[in-house]
Amino acid sequence: MPETSLSTVELQILFGPAALEQGWQGFTEGRVWVTETLGDGGLRGQVRSEEGECFEVQVRLQRARDRLFVQTCCNCTAGKNCAHAAALLWQLVDGGCSDSSPPDDAAMTQWLGDIEQLTQGMSAAGLSDIVYLLLLGEHGVQPHVRVAHRQKNGATDAYDPADVLRDDLDVRLDGADRSILYELAELGYRPQHGLEMDGLLGAALLERLAATGRCWLQDMTGSPLRLAPQRALAIDWALSAASGCFQVSLQSEPRCTQVLNFAPPWFIDASSSQCGPLESSIPRVLSEELLCAPPASPANVGAVMNRLRTCSRSDDFGHLT
Ligand SMILES: [Zn+2]
Repeated sequence: MPETSLSTVELQILFGPAALEQGWQGFTEGRVWVTETLGDGGLRGQVRSEEGECFEVQVRLQRARDRLFVQTCCNCTAGKNCAHAAALLWQLVDGGCSDSSPPDDAAMTQWLGDIEQLTQGMSAAGLSDIVYLLLLGEHGVQPHVRVAHRQKNGATDAYDPADVLRDDLDVRLDGADRSILYELAELGYRPQHGLEMDGLLGAALLERLAATGRCWLQDMTGSPLRLAPQRALAIDWALSAASGCFQVSLQSEPRCTQVLNFAPPWFIDASSSQCGPLESSIPRVLSEELLCAPPASPANVGAVMNRLRTCSRSDDFGHLT
């Protein structure tokens, strides 16, 4: 199955040296059993740990635009991208499946030498971090995420998530970074624009970006964004001095800097560098529709709110500010 065979370099990028070496041990010590070959070239199998515990593992493969996407699933506590998945994936490296004879010592020595070199190149001081920048647009423009790497001197350079497959020793990537970068590349991240975030995906992505502790608002001044407990969604009808009409907007309780129109909506509090989901008793479809409300004249706004209260069967439909 040449179209789905893996190279050692690809495995190194997916798992990092520690899980990969443990996986190699499991593979070479005969603690891996393939129970099923899947249609996409992936595998289902059992892997026994050194301690004798048996795990059910599945790996799925997808090649797209010269990149390989690997999904792993395991019933160990790690759940994915673990040493057990690495052990199973070694079956696919350069025809490992068809070659049942154990690799000779010379190959092993060579490989361990490569691993040693890799880890030596990763002196902590020489590595730069990946950082994520959440760019908030003007009203009505969805936020974008941009990826950069931070040099030792504090300067940042653009980083293309597609480069995650390059064997770049200068950039420190953990498992969360790898999975985020693969996803950004797959979703069509463009180096000049980044990736627009909205809907369910925007909410799920921001949660993972903030969890890295390396996601900043706009630029890297201040503290990185932290996940905060969910807040209540408030719907404001604010009087615009320019038009003399009431216009609806989403707010949080307590108030925040900006509400992102995700599903569910998320709040951004720039002063405390916090973000989190907003909760409301209003059905999601209705809260999205509310944002499209035309301006209401002062004479009409009371009647509009009464109609909303009746049809949404909720008192949360908004208040005047
Ligand atoms: Zn596992």
